[in-house]
Amino acid sequence: TKKNGSWQRVLLKVSGGALAGDGTQNIDPKLTMSIAREVSSIAHIGVEVAIIVGGGNFFRGANWVGSGGLDRASADHIGMMATIMNAIFLQASLEHFGVPTRVQTAFRMAEVAEPYIRRRAIRHLEKGRVVIFAAGTGNPFFTTDTAAALRAAEINAEVLLKATNVDGVYDCDPKKNPGANCLDHVSYHDAAVKDLSVMDLTAITLCQENSIPVVIFNLNKPGNILKAISGERVGTLIDH
Ligand code: UDP
Repeated sequence: TKKNGSWQRVLLKVSGGALAGDGTQNIDPKLTMSIAREVSSIAHIGVEVAIIVGGGNFFRGANWVGSGGLDRASADHIGMMATIMNAIFLQASLEHFGVPTRVQTAFRMAEVAEPYIRRRAIRHLEKGRVVIFAAGTGNPFFTTDTAAALRAAEINAEVLLKATNVDGVYDCDPKKNPGANCLDHVSYHDAAVKDLSVMDLTAITLCQENSIPVVIFNLNKPGNILKAISGERVGTLIDH
């Protein structure tokens, strides 16, 4: 499925936390620009890129349940709207680099972005537009990791690239064990059973059932997005 060693259609997951960096604001514009710059250089050479963006920098539903009488579904609705704010920001950053970009939301916000329509998303990709999927799956009780796995399956992405704040999957907790090793490869089974992964179980299972390989890699190292998208070895590969 790879041409010249590069993936042809990828789903890139960018967590909300990644957009915030170490700054005091919810979004670090410099960091967002550097993500957009790397994505643009790949889009310009013809790799089809879809992005799922999280919302944890603004609001993570589960953390708010109980406060002020919030139930989980309401909290998650706020969380999903947070992802839309990130998507609009990322879209503007990509357009700054001349990349045509569409945002599609899982629930309607028609004045701001297109609704998610699978065939239309695929058409955008074929035309060289970057598509940003916002509002997760559109359902409470899910995460944007699971939304990433779902959308990857729907658009026939060859790989799910998860950009995070760690180098990949470790053999044990690196915070507790200074000698922890970052693994090159781990099976879906081990990633799920041993709970080594930085991805939730629902998302891993969905990828396994649909044979979508997952690459977990560090977003904070410049050039890593480019490497991951162009099929170079980076971080940890999760597959069969
Ligand atoms: N969310 C949701 N359904 C989804 C995806 C996300 O309800 O399909 C909500 C949930 O409250 C979550 C928040 O949106 O906490 C932000 O997403 P997430 O925590 O996955 O973002 P990330 O950790 O990637 O920044």
